Amino acid sequence: MRYISTRGLPSAPSASFSDIMLEGLAADGGLYVPAEYPQLTERTLEQWRGVLATEGYAALAHRVLSLFIDDIPSDDLLAICRRAYTAEKFGKPSIVPVDRIGDGPLWIGHLSNGPTAAFKDMAMQLLGELFEYELTRRDQHLTILGATSGDTGSSAEHAMRGRDRLSVYMLTPAGRMTPFQQAQMFALQDQNIHNIAVDGVFDDCQDIVKAVNADAEFKAAHRIGAVNSINWARLVAQVVYYVALWLRVTTRNDQRVSFAVPTGNFGNICAGHVAREMGLPIDALVLATNENNVLHEFLQTGVYRVRSSDEVAATSSPSMDISKASNFERFIFDLLGRDGARVASLFRDRLAIDGQFDLSKTPEFARLSDRYGFVSGSSSHADRVQTIRGLWENNGVLIDPHTADGVHVAHQWLGRVTAPIVVLETALPVKFSETIVEAVGFVPERPARFAGIEDAPRRVVELPNDPDAIKRYIAETEAAVPYA
Ligand SMILES: *Cc1c(COP(=O)(O)O)cnc(C)c1O
Repeated sequence: MRYISTRGLPSAPSASFSDIMLEGLAADGGLYVPAEYPQLTERTLEQWRGVLATEGYAALAHRVLSLFIDDIPSDDLLAICRRAYTAEKFGKPSIVPVDRIGDGPLWIGHLSNGPTAAFKDMAMQLLGELFEYELTRRDQHLTILGATSGDTGSSAEHAMRGRDRLSVYMLTPAGRMTPFQQAQMFALQDQNIHNIAVDGVFDDCQDIVKAVNADAEFKAAHRIGAVNSINWARLVAQVVYYVALWLRVTTRNDQRVSFAVPTGNFGNICAGHVAREMGLPIDALVLATNENNVLHEFLQTGVYRVRSSDEVAATSSPSMDISKASNFERFIFDLLGRDGARVASLFRDRLAIDGQFDLSKTPEFARLSDRYGFVSGSSSHADRVQTIRGLWENNGVLIDPHTADGVHVAHQWLGRVTAPIVVLETALPVKFSETIVEAVGFVPERPARFAGIEDAPRRVVELPNDPDAIKRYIAETEAAVPYA
């Protein structure tokens, strides 16, 4: 399988999986996508049903990923999947259990039983193994620099810890994460993990990452890389759980299922789009946003309008508080018939000039739900609180505020899309206990692995809001690293 950029011309050269995994963003500013989507047959689905039932999730992941990764020998890829998806890391041998809510049309697909209790672990654990494998093969070292306001940073650190070909520098806004989120990161004592509390807000942290990456000389000298959600390797890892969940709620290979997905950067749901394009029998992809409804607005009006940072509301589902949706370009590329020049003019030019683009008058926009299955909705804080309380009181099921957003919007589409609807659970309630207390009046149960993490010694340095200070710190600490 070869990969192309969403902004490339048909004549542009393609790249291999391993290259685009280490590269992240394409040189033309676009995102990498496969040159075509592999197509599933009924026979493949039948075989996969057997693989999941008898050999488990890691073996299924190997089958699915093999369709997208042809530059890693099959045995090695299987070993990578087996290391990434263990019962020890994900709590249960099934890795992604699915439960029906009562005897109704909704199911919950549990994606957040990994090391940091958020669905990002599903992709990040695989990425950690893939990075280690590829860097060893190339005898290289990578320095990952990122900014986080919560889930991404801890998920990345837990996936990369203790790997001697990787160093992680994660910038966080000093004092602005929840105590639980801080503890998840700062309790790590691994020498290759560097927590940096920046005297500033999240946007300042992101600006520093951009500034460091803009220094081409420094970037090359220290082999600076990223693990953000635009990395194709993260996206393809997520395709696997759509397949697994579909297999677990169906008994026949022609049975259609809908998915409801709490959405921020369009990463999770984009994997659903890929699975659907491959021919997995998915009816609707129900896109759920919170008050930051950039994508719901697009699906309703055809206008994609990026928000300024002071327009982004701080909500009780904070991991979906986005000003723009970084993976959305991948879907628009498909919607517009894979016309790279048109995508470049929208995402590079129109967004820079107008801060928005309008597809409402195009024939493609009219086909959005019929052809691609997308429908959408949004929720408010009150909706999420009511949903959490309702599900607890009526069914004894406790969900986090992001998942509640998905359940709320799924309810709006009941009867209009094919059931069952599998709502993707993106975090455990324990991560967002304030809202849980507001909804149900008690503090959510804390899984044993998180007991007392706030009391562990903290490993974090405080640095000023200044790219040069960060560069100096990276240079000094990397000087001591064996492969760097
Ligand atoms: C990251 C995250 C999301 C949003 O996922 P996207 O892939 O950005 O759409 C939703 N919920 C939780 C808990 C998250 O951590």
